[in-house]
Amino acid sequence: MRARKRFGQHFLTDPAVLERIGTVLALQAQDKLLEIGPGNGALTEVLYGRCGRFVGVEIDRDLITALKARFTQLEVVNADILRLDFREVFASGDWRVAGNLPYNISTPLLVKLFAVTDLVRDMHFMVQREVALRLCASPGSKAWGRLTVLAQFNCRIEGLFDVSPESFKPAPKVWSRVIRLTPRSEKLPLSDLDCLETVVRTAFSQRRKRVSNALKSFDFDWQAVGIEADTRPDQLSVEDFVKLANIFALTSRAKAQEETEQ
Ligand code: SAH
Repeated sequence: MRARKRFGQHFLTDPAVLERIGTVLALQAQDKLLEIGPGNGALTEVLYGRCGRFVGVEIDRDLITALKARFTQLEVVNADILRLDFREVFASGDWRVAGNLPYNISTPLLVKLFAVTDLVRDMHFMVQREVALRLCASPGSKAWGRLTVLAQFNCRIEGLFDVSPESFKPAPKVWSRVIRLTPRSEKLPLSDLDCLETVVRTAFSQRRKRVSNALKSFDFDWQAVGIEADTRPDQLSVEDFVKLANIFALTSRAKAQEETEQ
């Protein structure tokens, strides 16, 4: 079986790992499941017939015919998952998502999924161990960054088990980890997701400076916010970032208001 590097193809071949993913997912007959990148169907096989609806989104045109022939009840979509309209596909809500993710797109894919967590029950993914560590990191650590803040604001994240390179064909260079992301039912009150993304992106682009310097353009009153001005951006917690994003949202709204009045 040839694998396309361009599509990040590392096919899972270890039956014990495949079974274990099936076990942690614990599908129920009425579940709606979206699999990202079913590929040659190794994971699909384990999950097939165990849920109510099963959609598979695969970019590689050469794999589509075989998937359709082998899994007649699978709703196969030949598309780039990054271009999928998740709001439309998940419209009925309570979807479950799974996949042995193409590692070259895992970060933008996760960020896209974080914007639709209101329609998702949970997500089980195979990711590079380094990505799993970033998702589960704590403030102040090297792995703590933009992805962590967006992930932890939206979801609870659990590392479930590690998978060695030899479990795949071809073997990737690094170890992998299966993780579970469960959207939070009670999120911190945030007025605008874009404002959070802007503050977070700016902060981590200069993570070793003082916040007063790195976030200078926002004109925050650090004393009023209750954050020491010489804190480093990478020491801020999710709560800190949400607080800053809400202030930024307020001031930008006030500014826009002023401009229309002039
Ligand atoms: N689930 C299979 C394959 C995992 S490899 C297994 O476990 O063996 C990753 C899969 O994602 C490949 O089939 C690859 O073609 C597919 N893929 C890569 N980029 C994609 C994208 N942008 N949209 C949808 N599928 C993609």
